[in-house]
Amino acid sequence: MSKVLPIRTYGDPVLREPARPVAAITPEIQAFIDDLFATMRASQGVGLAAQQVGRTESVCVIELPESYDVEDEKGPRLNPDVPLKLALVNPKIVEESDDTCSMEEGCLSFPDIRGNVERPWSVVIEHLGLDGQPKRTRLNGFFARAAQHELDHLAGKLFTDRFTYVKKLAMRTKLKHLQAETLEKMHAS
Ligand SMILES: [Zn+2]
Repeated sequence: MSKVLPIRTYGDPVLREPARPVAAITPEIQAFIDDLFATMRASQGVGLAAQQVGRTESVCVIELPESYDVEDEKGPRLNPDVPLKLALVNPKIVEESDDTCSMEEGCLSFPDIRGNVERPWSVVIEHLGLDGQPKRTRLNGFFARAAQHELDHLAGKLFTDRFTYVKKLAMRTKLKHLQAETLEKMHAS
């Protein structure tokens, strides 16, 4: 039975910890992946990484509605060979396109904060499949963006780090408040 875990917010130091590789897909890791999916769904997110629930295994999950994986409304899926529900274990970007695009992102660890981030349009990721075998997955469009956002988490990097200088200035007060709120909650519990 999967559990919905509390989500760590900005200011929690675990969000800055780099993940450590998982040695094998054990039943514990499988259960952790199920918990990540359950937690992400409960908050209506499209991605979640280990640090966001206070863990440091190199594991993240993504689940997109099909309508996010198309170029335009009636078009075909951009990643027809990739399941819309994807768990990445020990993921590493091995290729990225020169083509980039900028789009607004949000993050479950940053309630009420959104901002544009420029990222490569397409990436190739090496990772461990749930069968324990190494895999190479190419992702395009929004799926690639979601994966890059989650891989950033696994490196202890946050989407606000990628805001433009002007956007960072505009968000500074909001971020400070969120950080203070997080620390207050941590000390209270
Ligand atoms: Zn995030």
